[in-house]
Amino acid sequence: MSEKACIVGAGPSGAYLARLLSEEETDVTVFEVNGRLASKPCGWGIPYSIDDFMKLPEETILEKIRGYEIFLENSLIHEYKGDVLGYIVDKELLLKQLLEGANIVHRGVDPRKLIDCRLVVDARGHPVYKGRKALALQAEARANIERDRIKIFFFLDLVGYGWVFPGRDGLIHIGAGGFADYDFLRDRVLFLARQIGAEIVSLKGSPIAAGGLRLPGNGDFAVGEAIGAVMPLTGEGIRPGFLSARALYDSLRNGKPYRKSLEEYGLIFNIDIQLRIIRYLENSSPAERRELYLSAPIEVLKRVTAANLTKLEVAGLLARYPGFFRKLVLKG
Ligand SMILES: Cc1cc2nc3c(=O)[nH]c(=O)nc-3n(C[C@H](O)[C@H](O)[C@H](O)COP(=O)(O)OP(=O)(O)OC[C@H]3O[C@@H](n4cnc5c(N)ncnc54)[C@H](O)[C@@H]3O)c2cc1C
Repeated sequence: MSEKACIVGAGPSGAYLARLLSEEETDVTVFEVNGRLASKPCGWGIPYSIDDFMKLPEETILEKIRGYEIFLENSLIHEYKGDVLGYIVDKELLLKQLLEGANIVHRGVDPRKLIDCRLVVDARGHPVYKGRKALALQAEARANIERDRIKIFFFLDLVGYGWVFPGRDGLIHIGAGGFADYDFLRDRVLFLARQIGAEIVSLKGSPIAAGGLRLPGNGDFAVGEAIGAVMPLTGEGIRPGFLSARALYDSLRNGKPYRKSLEEYGLIFNIDIQLRIIRYLENSSPAERRELYLSAPIEVLKRVTAANLTKLEVAGLLARYPGFFRKLVLKG
């Protein structure tokens, strides 16, 4: 098949769609406003559920994460060491590899003005997303940490969380994100940096499309954060961006409605689960939030953050932990 495809945005969703289209010899041009790939702040973390979908090239994996510590208001409440839970990738290298078969033009464009392309896909990310947004700030910092473990910090006054992830070149990422303003989140990042004795090198922030899927109108095509393909509670957007690109690709090729394709990749269901948890947290008192964090079974935490739950698995978890889920369902 030969056609000229134009993709606007070289983030994970645009880059992966470019890969899929160029593999079948479509002439693909990707427009990217930034001179450098992956310049947006991002923890570069991908949960192990990516393995069900694609094999990450080994050279793009900076760390395999085999453990975590979860803190609530500064007290350790859960700890795990064992199987691989996810990866920290070199996002810049991963995007570069995905884009290898496409022409890259480093220029900002308006997708509506690309009239000589047979297919135009909007992959511009959160600026064009129409739903509710969260905010996430992240510092690059220097500190000694165990590089195969991540730290997650819950706070009773934040619907969101803080994190410490290993980064590239010996640096680490300290972040805080959720439904809060810049000053609040910056204070949390600085607090976490003090807690682990880190020296901050830079601090950047970005909104996250966290209100669920918003599909474009008839005849328009979009992927990734542009349509809200992000897990709204965890802020995970790389793997969902890939999934949405694959769903659009499938729908273009087999004529299946895009929504149906997104549903088949589990995006609609898993985003909905996380939206329900957000609603629960927003409607809860600090005491109820504390109770939820303390009573959350590890198995549930792991599966919700992997965000590839099926309806059958949820039914199984509901049966195993009825008390825990009753709370969520009532308010969520
Ligand atoms: C602080 C922070 C930490 C995060 N950590 C993680 C994490 O650890 N793991 C994870 O999975 N997700 C994380 N995310 C979310 C993740 O970064 C995004 O959801 C993901 O990158 C979205 O991919 P995308 O391709 O849809 O959009 P983006 O990555 O936003 O890419 C859109 C691209 O379009 C370009 N663009 C915009 N306008 C134009 C234009 N007019 N013309 C040309 N180009 C344009 C932009 O420059 C950008 O490169 C984090 C987000 C933040 C803010």
